[in-house]
Amino acid sequence: MCVEKTPWEQVIDFHGHTCPEIALGFRVAQIAMRELGIRPAPTSQLLVTAYTHSCAIDAFQVLNRATYGRGTLTVNEKKQHDYHFQYTGTSEGLQISIRSEILDHLVGIHEHTNTREKQNKYLEAIQLILGSEETLFCTIQKV
Ligand SMILES: [Zn+2]
Repeated sequence: MCVEKTPWEQVIDFHGHTCPEIALGFRVAQIAMRELGIRPAPTSQLLVTAYTHSCAIDAFQVLNRATYGRGTLTVNEKKQHDYHFQYTGTSEGLQISIRSEILDHLVGIHEHTNTREKQNKYLEAIQLILGSEETLFCTIQKV
């Protein structure tokens, strides 16, 4: 039997573990694909810039096909969960910024030493990231 993996499973497989930041990247990547719509030309490539380095960027490599190796994924470290998406050959980009209320839940999340406590915090954060209303999760701007 051959069951195709869901996008979520593909991302988790690639990333190697389940964590709040990969959930964040997963959601951002899906919003970006929806907002950007179809590829403007067969040759245009999606460029992704992340303004902080985190687990989230692996989701863009899988879902948006923006890879570090090809130089279509860049990290410009500003310690901000802001993500910019743009197809080559177009003048309009998309900026997705995660709301601070969401980010507050990620502060110190890696610091729990007790495994069970950490797992619970992770699950809580993942549910919040994937389950909140989109308007409470992020802001979306055309730039
Ligand atoms: Zn991770």
